[in-house]
Amino acid sequence: MTQVGVNGYGTIGKRVADAVAAQPDMDLVGVAKTRPNFEAETAARKGYPLYAAVPERVDRFAEAGLDLAGEVEDLVAAADVIVDCTPSGIGAENAALYDDHDTPAIFQGGEDADVADVSFNARANFDDAVGADSARVVSCNTTGLSRILAPLDETYGVEKARVTLVRRGGDPGQTGRGPIDDILPDPVTIPSHHGPDVNTIFPDLDIDTLGMKVPATLMHTHSVNVTLESDADAADVRDRFADETRLFQIPAGADIDGAGKLKEFAHDAGRPRGDLWENCIWAESITVEGRDLYLFQAIHQESDVVPENVDAVRALRGDADAAESMATTEDAMGVGI
Ligand code: NAD
Repeated sequence: MTQVGVNGYGTIGKRVADAVAAQPDMDLVGVAKTRPNFEAETAARKGYPLYAAVPERVDRFAEAGLDLAGEVEDLVAAADVIVDCTPSGIGAENAALYDDHDTPAIFQGGEDADVADVSFNARANFDDAVGADSARVVSCNTTGLSRILAPLDETYGVEKARVTLVRRGGDPGQTGRGPIDDILPDPVTIPSHHGPDVNTIFPDLDIDTLGMKVPATLMHTHSVNVTLESDADAADVRDRFADETRLFQIPAGADIDGAGKLKEFAHDAGRPRGDLWENCIWAESITVEGRDLYLFQAIHQESDVVPENVDAVRALRGDADAAESMATTEDAMGVGI
């Protein structure tokens, strides 16, 4: 069993912890928290050993009635792999701690690519991370794009991708984020950082991305145009996507017109936290004009990277190949609609 520690127990960290705990070949050694807030309470209630991320704050946990298993250094020492889920930039600061303990580490997409040996997406480049000391699971948007670009490139070849990303202003729990009443080109310069991030997974792919930000919290929406190298038709593309376990094609008759109903669907299906780990592609939007493919997809920013983090653990350990790891992860979590 691989002993996995999670440092940073917020939006991504708490989901990664649950996903790790569900795996047949992994134990969750514990989670590190900066303060004894409601998330620390929940972790304790789930029986996850709690570690203090900031040693000076150990007393605050005791005052809140929360037992600690130790400090973050103890967690890093006890783990075979540490998954760093701290806010952007903090992961890079933590890298020396993981190095000092020779603990392989997984970082998140908010970090610069050079934080880790390799940027990672399970479907596109699992093998690049096998045996590496560290990997960076790319952002929610880059994960969503990699999952469609990999099968398109393998099947038809990709001449050029152009994507407009309409991004949620903040996650539901990020009460301080905006905009509240505006529509922003964000960033106003082109390309947005997403295209270069996709190139950390597909170095030779020609891609331009444009970003916008809107007053929404539920999901991101991508408007995608891919010029293919060979002829395709829409039915072919739908068939090809149907083989991909992390792509959900929203059926035409489902009456799902946006992120609101997608989340309602996820809650009705009993998904934990209403999570949608799969890209949600409107099947009707898949259109091919000549060699130009168009589609709309929604990406649940809080959860699509979670199965990728689990696969990254197996890749660093060299415990399984991509297909075996993805199948184990999906089976344990219930991924696939
Ligand atoms: P978050 O703020 O929800 O959670 C981060 C957690 O880390 C918080 O609980 C915070 O208290 C804790 N923390 C802060 N400093 C710490 C430290 N020094 N040691 C340990 N814990 C510390 O952030 P998040 O949304 O989960 O993002 C985490 C990473 O995942 C970022 O790199 C982000 O870019 C990336 N990411 C976020 C999303 C998203 O939409 N939320 C999607 C994909 C990737």
